[in-house]
Amino acid sequence: MSNKNYDVAIIGGGPAGSTTGTLLKKYNPNLEVLILEKAKFPRDHVGESQLPQISAILQEMGCWDKVEAANFPIKIGATYRWGKTSQLWDFDFLAATKFQDEPRPAEYKGQRKQTAFQVDRSVYDNILLDHAQDNGCEVRQETAVTKVDIETDQVKNLHLSNGEQINARYYIDASGHIGVLRRVLGVETTIPTRLQNIAIWDYWTNAEWADEIGVGGTRVQVMSLAHGWIWFIPLGPTRTSIGFICPAEHYKKLKKPPEDIYQEALKSEPRISELIANATSRGKIETTKDWSFLSEKLVGENWFLAGESAGFADPILAAGMTLTHVSAKEAAYTILELEQQKHDATWLKHHYEDNQKRRIKQHIRFADYWYAANGQFSDLQKHCRDIAKDAGLKLTPEEAFRWLSQGGFTNDILGQAVIGGFDPTSMKQVMQRFAQKDSSWEISGYNIFKLNLEGAKQEDLPVYNNGRIEKIKSYVKDEQRLPLTGFYAALVKILERTSDIQQISALLKKSLTSQYSPQHTQVAFNHALQCLEVMVSEGWVTAKIDKKKPKLQLSTPTEGALIHAHS
Ligand SMILES: Cc1cc2nc3c(=O)[nH]c(=O)nc-3n(C[C@H](O)[C@H](O)[C@H](O)COP(=O)(O)OP(=O)(O)OC[C@H]3O[C@@H](n4cnc5c(N)ncnc54)[C@H](O)[C@@H]3O)c2cc1C
Repeated sequence: MSNKNYDVAIIGGGPAGSTTGTLLKKYNPNLEVLILEKAKFPRDHVGESQLPQISAILQEMGCWDKVEAANFPIKIGATYRWGKTSQLWDFDFLAATKFQDEPRPAEYKGQRKQTAFQVDRSVYDNILLDHAQDNGCEVRQETAVTKVDIETDQVKNLHLSNGEQINARYYIDASGHIGVLRRVLGVETTIPTRLQNIAIWDYWTNAEWADEIGVGGTRVQVMSLAHGWIWFIPLGPTRTSIGFICPAEHYKKLKKPPEDIYQEALKSEPRISELIANATSRGKIETTKDWSFLSEKLVGENWFLAGESAGFADPILAAGMTLTHVSAKEAAYTILELEQQKHDATWLKHHYEDNQKRRIKQHIRFADYWYAANGQFSDLQKHCRDIAKDAGLKLTPEEAFRWLSQGGFTNDILGQAVIGGFDPTSMKQVMQRFAQKDSSWEISGYNIFKLNLEGAKQEDLPVYNNGRIEKIKSYVKDEQRLPLTGFYAALVKILERTSDIQQISALLKKSLTSQYSPQHTQVAFNHALQCLEVMVSEGWVTAKIDKKKPKLQLSTPTEGALIHAHS
């Protein structure tokens, strides 16, 4: 059989594969990119509830409009039964009351930049793979990679199910949890958590949507039971994904067929039972127990792991697809930049790996907190205590914030304090709900803020923008990094001039007024203060009090615009 040569060969046509391929071709149409997919699309896949960060990548890929045209429900947020009490609460990406009615398909602007999609993966993955093809990738479905030839850290050839052999200059493992290259290359994986669950799910026809917000808007439902939780994700006007997740250990103890466990779980949850009263299930249960893991190595001589082949965090925070799309984007940018030969190859590869590992680790840690703090798991109390203990987590809101903020808020989106869609204010509100105790601000009650760069080194970090990677400076101390971009850069600049909060506020407002419209300046100012909170809890800034001067007075209302009792 023939031997064909490509610049980049991608194993897997899921979101990781199609995102990498599309962005490679968008920014360097001369590259010969091949995507190999063993299945025939459309094919079902779990992982349907997205975060708004994905929408920006879809727009960059040039396919947000195509996804919008599929008329998927617009995710405004989620309703949870989770925490100390059984009261329902919402976490919204934008205030539901402010969501304006507008006809669909809409454009990627205004309010839609703050929303996400709830996607039927058989349709979504198909749109993305076709889009990769429309952008010049050669896509071969029903073509599995059956064997990989390697020589130490180098991939030499791929053998395909049709007997063909493929050579490429770069190889991407986008094969999902199977991890075709990861396994052949013997890449070790670690399981940095005791959170090992099992999921059982099916698809339903004619379930009611729990909420109908404006045109096409809704919330996913996350409902705790005594020994697990249920996801309820409308995927279209009539199709809904409903799954049940519980600890793998508990599942074994139940000694029942998964079908029975699933049906009993749904029946025992009053809200879900009501929503499916007139619905029918497909009657084909699916399960998975491959759970949280992290690959030790994500990049080699001529290969990259992207998407779920690199690692997996429990789906409670619906971050998997975001981690997937972001890693695929950064893999594409890294290859594009390697081709440019402007930056050192080792630096580029090191940061690709470091970025993904930090994010996946932090999302695993975030999920640990989420489970450990759920008082609704009445049958899993010891399990939850063990997770908290193993993660080194004390469940007071202050300790938890410090634990989560370490690296989390500075790694997800450089320059902003946010992780998985939560900024420090929303995180504190969640902690208040979980602990039923006020969550204080570290910066409140102080008025002198001194930059503390003792022991910090400087390092260049990559910024991924418009198809190019640029270097920005960052301070690094132990595992922490303080990227000198966005609000962090503005604060460092100001803190180099003054430590007095009144002057800090005045300088900050002056700088933000020149960059933002009047209505956005206050929002930006609040966000900058949240970055200051993160800098204090990470030790980049020390806070003191001068009794003669006014202090910062901050508090977190339990009922906020975005996190509030369900309405
Ligand atoms: C129970 C559960 C619930 C989840 N819920 C959510 C959620 O609500 N929100 C969210 O954001 N994420 C969620 N996720 C995570 C989400 O599913 C993944 O992040 C996402 O599917 C990863 O995309 P990928 O492209 O890396 O892999 P995949 O989507 O798995 O795609 C990999 C592709 O590679 C192909 N392939 C495999 N082997 C070969 C081979 N040898 N040759 C050629 N092709 C091959 C496969 O056929 C497949 O199409 C969930 C995951 C699980 C397990």
